[in-house]
Amino acid sequence: MSLHLFDHHIHSTRSDGEVSLADRARSVAVRPHGISDHYPWRDKMRHDDDVLRYLDDAATLGLRVGLEYDLGVAPPLLASTRRSLHYLIGAVHQLEVDGVRIGYDIAGQFVKGKLRGKPFPETDRFSDEALRRRILERTLEVVREGIEEIGIDVLGHPTFTPLQALGDPETSYPIEWQERLIELCVRADVAIELNESYGVPHHAFLVRAKRAGARFSVGSDTHGPLLELERTAKMIEAAALPHERFLDGRRVRTPV
Ligand SMILES: [Zn+2]
Ligand SMILES: [Zn+2]
Repeated sequence: MSLHLFDHHIHSTRSDGEVSLADRARSVAVRPHGISDHYPWRDKMRHDDDVLRYLDDAATLGLRVGLEYDLGVAPPLLASTRRSLHYLIGAVHQLEVDGVRIGYDIAGQFVKGKLRGKPFPETDRFSDEALRRRILERTLEVVREGIEEIGIDVLGHPTFTPLQALGDPETSYPIEWQERLIELCVRADVAIELNESYGVPHHAFLVRAKRAGARFSVGSDTHGPLLELERTAKMIEAAALPHERFLDGRRVRTPV
């Protein structure tokens, strides 16, 4: 089954992707997609000027242009810059908890199957109950900030944290926490992303989100070739998510 819902989450050489904007613009004919590079990204996406140049370059090529805004750590962008984008994805890639930086990189490699079958190397650290609770609470705080102050349209890879790498997400994420996360999104009409690369959110979360009246968004999160959205198609089918609840490259909420 090939999926033709709009894919909002795609990277290019303007951050850590391997494909140029021009080549991304050509693959829109294969299936509809936008572009959403990381903000911030080292020397490439540092401030408003970089973002506006990116928007201009990509839009000139005919692309719909978003950003993957690093929640909790990104330097603020002007409201005018945020509004001029076609959409904004917010995602958490690290957290600061009690002054300590919690990196998500190793968990990310594990979840994406890049550790060649080895067990998750940080199991002990993240099995600590106090740390787990702090990560969960801090996640809700930065998501709320992203929704209310930054005006994100999509919550990217919503349930990806190192806790996901511990095993069953229904155990790592209390149902009550999942419902609070969903509620934050639903109340503000922020779409919940189905992320092909991380394979999140899990089925029970999607069923809860659908029941709560959530909107959804497709995100392959590809950094290389544009591939079929096989996992996403299965996730949509299994939870019977109606296609009309998915974003189509346009904002539905009023920018903040
Ligand atoms: Zn991401
Ligand atoms: Zn991404």
